[in-house]
Amino acid sequence: MAFVAVPWRSSAQGSCTRHVTFKPLARADQSQAFVERPLRQIMSLKDDLVIANRILYAQGVVDAFGHVSVRDETDPGTYWIARNMAPASVTADDLIRYDYDGAPSDGDERRPYLERYIHGSVFRARSDVGAVVHSHAQSTIPFGIVPEARLRPVWHMSSFIGGDVPIFEIRDVEGDASDLLVRSSATGDALAHSLGQSTAVLMRGHGATVVGRNVHEAVFRAVYLALNARVQVEASRLGALMSLTAAEAIAATATIAGQIDRAWDLWAAEAAATSSS
Ligand SMILES: [Zn+2]
Repeated sequence: MAFVAVPWRSSAQGSCTRHVTFKPLARADQSQAFVERPLRQIMSLKDDLVIANRILYAQGVVDAFGHVSVRDETDPGTYWIARNMAPASVTADDLIRYDYDGAPSDGDERRPYLERYIHGSVFRARSDVGAVVHSHAQSTIPFGIVPEARLRPVWHMSSFIGGDVPIFEIRDVEGDASDLLVRSSATGDALAHSLGQSTAVLMRGHGATVVGRNVHEAVFRAVYLALNARVQVEASRLGALMSLTAAEAIAATATIAGQIDRAWDLWAAEAAATSSS
């Protein structure tokens, strides 16, 4: 084997072995690099997806419920997500690849998330999306259940919201007796339609779904969408709100785009310290 995954260790992350590094290819093995590159990409993808699960839990975006997925660029039409379990406990061995209709593409029949259809439908509808976060973050719930309320960017850190966050009404698809969960591709497609070209969509009486070009961006947005909701509610008690203009949102988003990994690195270290303590 030309390269071998080995445990990665740092003083900041104690005995955590979530990361992998690779022994360099010998010169004679260079011709194999093209064959092995997809494997490298998948191992990196899975590594990041495990960290994303831990971060979302540590930051309070998900609890026992909620999930995050990453599109598999090496195999168009598929994405990776954990089996049915609490995000804080996810390891690389818990990740399963699905097609956009929610079927396991590798024959892995372990119990899946009921709402995995959210992810496949969004990936199918949005070629620009590389990662999806679905959560039941409490701070976002009021904005889906109060008809007059609109979640909108009120500070620069959440400028990616752009304007009013759209709301998905599941009654339009499932009637008024559903359990509010996205249990089929048809309902997932309706959710993706409500999302449109936005970065997030609220789900009335349920939660929110956030997208990003990659998993770092999707996690960043999921964290700050929940924080924006909290700030907006707190500020509304003081008086009339001022939200960002469309131009301010664009300018701030461009600036912050280059800073996302700073947050990712901090949150990953914090999540690793928490999970190893
Ligand atoms: Zn849900």
